[in-house]
This record gives sequence, structure tokens and C-alpha cells, in this order.
Amino acid sequence: MLRFSTTNLSIRFYLRSILLSVVSVTTAAAQTEQRPNIIFIFSDDHAYQGIGAYGNKIVKTPSIDRIAREGALLKNNIVTNSICGPSRATLLTGKYSHLNGYKRNDRTRFDTNQTLLSQTLRQSGYQTAWIGKMHLNSLPAGFDFWKVLPDQGSYYNPDFIGQPNDTTRYTGYVSDLITRFSTEWLEKRDNAKPFFLIVGHKATHREWLPDLQDLGAYDNVTFPLPANFYDDYKGRSAALQQDMTIEKTMRLKQDLKVNVDYAKDGAYKRFNPEQKKVFKAYYDKVTQDFNDKKLTGKALTEWKYQRYMRDYFSVANSLDRNIGKLLDYLDKSGLSKNTVVIYASDQGFYLGEHGWFDKRFIYEESLKTPFVIRYPGVIKPGTKVEDLILNIDWAPTVLNIAGAKIPADMQGKSFLPLLKTPQTAQVPWRKEAYYHYYEFPEPHHVFPHFGIRTKRYKLAYFYGGADSWELFDLEKDPTEVSNIYGSKGAEKITVDLKAKLKTLMTEYKDEEALKILASAKK
Ligand code: CA
Repeated sequence: MLRFSTTNLSIRFYLRSILLSVVSVTTAAAQTEQRPNIIFIFSDDHAYQGIGAYGNKIVKTPSIDRIAREGALLKNNIVTNSICGPSRATLLTGKYSHLNGYKRNDRTRFDTNQTLLSQTLRQSGYQTAWIGKMHLNSLPAGFDFWKVLPDQGSYYNPDFIGQPNDTTRYTGYVSDLITRFSTEWLEKRDNAKPFFLIVGHKATHREWLPDLQDLGAYDNVTFPLPANFYDDYKGRSAALQQDMTIEKTMRLKQDLKVNVDYAKDGAYKRFNPEQKKVFKAYYDKVTQDFNDKKLTGKALTEWKYQRYMRDYFSVANSLDRNIGKLLDYLDKSGLSKNTVVIYASDQGFYLGEHGWFDKRFIYEESLKTPFVIRYPGVIKPGTKVEDLILNIDWAPTVLNIAGAKIPADMQGKSFLPLLKTPQTAQVPWRKEAYYHYYEFPEPHHVFPHFGIRTKRYKLAYFYGGADSWELFDLEKDPTEVSNIYGSKGAEKITVDLKAKLKTLMTEYKDEEALKILASAKK
């Protein structure tokens, strides 16, 4: 009797555990079905002020605008260190450069033996892929599939490194090839799993070589000079002795294609005869224009600015068109409904503001980067987020969307609640952003600096030789030309911001910065 009863009990337990496991398998299957795919389109040096959705009325960016219209746009997405490699390292780790080890572009090899977004997603059941530009001096880690450009890659007929480590040259324009490889991978992926795909674009990185079909796309446009184009840096930090002006640093031959030496420059050696013919015909006219006008002084600088804008935005045309192609593919394949699409650049870029091109400085145009996200059924179309988002938040947000656990060593936090909630509602969020830039002196002689950005103010300290502070009231001085550090009336806010800066350094464990701050000039 007792024996029978025990058996009976075991049978009941056995049946119950079968039933439970059936239930849990079913739940897991349902979760997998519901877990969205995530595509992170990641461009290079694409300025937010050059995007329609961010208010640019001249250039056409219909695809990026479409993502913004159908989803959300972050108005204040701040990068923690405004250059290429470090931004990618932060995307993968959710950590500041001083903790992920990737502070500068070229002197570092990315340490893949740390918690990575890709690996964490993979462990939670996602299929992962990186296609296109990576630029981390290492091969992708934590990705099931990858096909990446070596280093900066080439615009025309580029090489790609495929798995495990073979380099192949392809015919065509880089943006088109990246899209082609992305859709090819989407076709052949394992349909049983949700996926995370990074589409890394080379556009709009210097030197700007547009796709042939985009040559001259903006020749009928005269771009207005930014209000601070002729910034004289008066009352500013010694760090303003940089080397990134359109006037002095931008090169006529290499950057603007005047009198190009087609035989010498490696980028042009890749052309096939037909490409070279079309390209050369266009830039011969540019050279002719330059020679005819014999410009000097401001007129020459402004001519260079117009050429810069025309080339830059022509390259951006290919970027946006290819984002459109990918969105169309998602529509046709039925993937749109359950796929989150993110578009971001690794950092912002100067389009003539302060007289510059390039990035690095804590000033708005390179501190902030474009970020739009579409998440059907979750994010209300047309959502705008004003809060201070950092690029350390990208990895936690992606993990949050994927329903995966956010590793404790990631320093950012998920901003998914901000995307879901109307901005009139209160979601607790940071009120200050911390920034730290390192790469000096090459290539643009921008002194290392750290700083804090609040909704209204920005305080920065430049070190390594330029030792000095800058303070801006963004409400009164949105173009950041008037340094109010040390001026009457700024005492209280300075003390307040310095204290907050120290708190942030402590919170983010930036020991090096804390030491520099302790001995900083007053
Ligand atoms: Ca970049």
C-alpha cells in the first residue's frame, strides 16, 4: 500500500514535471517568437545637423527621416569620447573608454576578453552578425557571422575580411556592398532564432568619395555658412589651437579632389577604367573651377567649404539610399513588423561650425550624434526624446529590448522606458552627462579634455598642455563662442558643476581624471 502510494506519487510528480516542462518549452517558444530582431545601422562621422529629421532643410535624408517618423528621435544623444574606434568599443561594452581600454583610434587593440553586447545576446539565444566597417584593430568577437572592412576600408571596390580571416576584393561602391551582404545574410540566417545585426557603414568618413551616381548631387546648392564659421576663439582655451580647420587643415588635393594624382593615391588605384573616367570627368571640372577663380583668403575658404559640403552630402546620399534599400527589404520579407531598426553614427561631425571639419571636441556638433529607432507596436511614431542619453546606454538598451540580462559591469542604463513613455510623463533619468576625450596630438592636435554637459550648461577642462577651463551657457550661447568661465555671475554654477563633475568621475570610476581634476588649474 505504502509502496503503491509512493509509486503513485512519483508518477504524479513525473506527470506534473512533464506538464511543467511542456509549459516552459511553450513559453520559451512564445518568447522567442516575440523577441524582436534588432538591426543597428551604424555609420561613421554622420552629423545630426546634416539630417532632415534633425532640422536640416537642404539635404535629403528620406530613409533616416522615415525611421524617425515611424519611431523615435533622440535629440541629445551624447557620445562619451568623440572618435570612431572608441565609440564602437563603447557600443560593444556599454562602458567608458577608460574601462573598456579603447581610448584612442590607432594605438590600441580592442580587448575582446570583456563582457560584450554581442556575446551576451548570443548567450541569450540571439544570432549575431557584424557586416561592414568595424575599425577596432581586431576581428569581431561574439558574432556568429561577420564580414568587415579592414581598418577604414575603401569607398570603391573595397576589400572585405570574411570568416575565418580571408580578404576578398569586391567590385562596386562600399555602401551598396554592405547592404548586399547584409540582405544576403538575412536570407541565409537561422530562422528559428531572433537576430542582432550591426550594419557598419563607412560613409560619411573622410576622404569623401561619392558614389558615381551622386556626383554633383548638390552642385546647385549654396550651403549657408554656420553662424560661428568665423569663430575667432577669443577668450577661449589654448586648446583651440587645433589643426582641423577648413581654411588650413582641409587639403585641396586629398580632401577636395583638386588636381588629383590618380596614379599615386591608393584609393584611386582601385578604380576600374569606367569608374575612373566618370569620376575624373567630374573632378576635372572642379579643378578647372578652382584654377579659373584663383581665389584667396576668405573667398578660398568659402569655396573649400562649398566643395566640402557637396562631397560630404553626396556621400551621405548613398548612405541614406542604402538604409532605404534595407528598410524596403524588411518590408518585402515581412521582417519589418518584428524588427527594431536603429540608425546612429559613431559620433557627430563639424560641418563648418567653428570653421571646422572632424570631431573630438566636447562642443555640441561632435559631442552629440544622431540616433533614431523604430520599434513597431512599442514606440509611438514621431516620439522625440530630450533627455541626455549616452552611448554607454546603447548596449543596455539593446539587451533590454532583447529581454536579456544587462551585465553588471555595463555603465549605462536602458532608455527603453523613455522611448515607451510620452515625454510629459516622469521617468527618472540622469541630469548630467560626462565626457572624456584622449587622442593627442595626432591627427588634429585636439588637447585631451573632460567635461560635464547639463541641459543648460557645459563645463570642460583641457589638460596635457592646454590646462584651462571653458564654461558655456547653452541657452544664451547655443553656438558656444562665449566662454564665461571666471566671469562675474558664473561663480555659483561653476562650483556646482565642478562638484557634479567630480561625482560623475567617481561614479564612472575614472581614476585618471580624478587625479587630473585634483591638480587642475583654478
Ligand atoms: Ca567616426
